[in-house]
Amino acid sequence: MSNDTIFSKIISKQIPADIIYEDENTLAFKDINPQAPFHALIIPKIAIATINDINASNSHLVGELYVTAAKLAKQFGFAQDGYRVVMNCNEHGGQTVYHIHLHMLAGIEMGWPPYQNTKKEQS
Ligand code: AMP
Repeated sequence: MSNDTIFSKIISKQIPADIIYEDENTLAFKDINPQAPFHALIIPKIAIATINDINASNSHLVGELYVTAAKLAKQFGFAQDGYRVVMNCNEHGGQTVYHIHLHMLAGIEMGWPPYQNTKKEQS
């Protein structure tokens, strides 16, 4: 599976995105199809295709994604009320872009559990 996704082009600034945070290893930008009043994607600058590809040598980047989430929560004022951070994996998880990313959703009180909105009825 190629790791060259639309997110690689956003990292290299070949295509535009509404970038709200950048540091050495992570980038955050607004989701083009927001599912909450605030919906950002937080990605590592190095492509890791799925959660299944996280290992001992790249796992520090996953921690950095959460550090960025905490910074954004503070910056945009969601830290106290709360927010949701989700990483989808492969087809059943709803992953469509194969470069790991945290969805950061905020600005509304969300329901739980999420599987109430499953795509298909399970037999
Ligand atoms: P997932 O389905 O978990 O892989 O999430 C991929 C997300 O990327 C979706 O929420 C899309 O709306 C979002 N997305 C796809 N292309 C872009 C883009 N060019 N800029 C911002 N968000 C995007």
